[in-house]
Amino acid sequence: MTVAKTVARKVVLRFPHRLVDKPIIYRLVKDYDLQFNILKASVTPEEEGLLILELSGSKKSYDDAVRYLTGVGVELQPLVKDVFRNEERCTHCGACVTICPVDAFVVNPKTRVVDFHETKCIACALCINACPVRAMEVRL
Ligand code: SF4
Ligand code: SF4
Repeated sequence: MTVAKTVARKVVLRFPHRLVDKPIIYRLVKDYDLQFNILKASVTPEEEGLLILELSGSKKSYDDAVRYLTGVGVELQPLVKDVFRNEERCTHCGACVTICPVDAFVVNPKTRVVDFHETKCIACALCINACPVRAMEVRL
């Protein structure tokens, strides 16, 4: 008897506005037989849907589901291992503050310094491209 290889992956899904109310997660369960655990769900200021999920199931189902998701226009990005801030580069511009789905960046109201709360970070990597001076980095 062969046992199907199973996977469990943490991923960030970004839905364009037109897909926000479509039953996409329902299809992952019903058509692809995946299990999911929602780690975070939000709508960005651009009205994009953002879901951070742990998806698990057989490797084949997972790969088929990824093809389905990208085919309908969902952006999918795996969670990276670890994200840190290069303190020497950060200019405290604040561009990362609204991007972060878990509020890991907090502006100090008195000093306007942007504090980074590393323990809140779930390593979704959304701040990496948002930072104009590339102060947010992935630890490999
Ligand atoms: S976007 Fe970059 S430079 Fe601006 S506050 Fe965030 S980490 Fe610092
Ligand atoms: S990677 Fe950046 S945007 Fe994502 S949770 Fe961590 S600090 Fe927030």
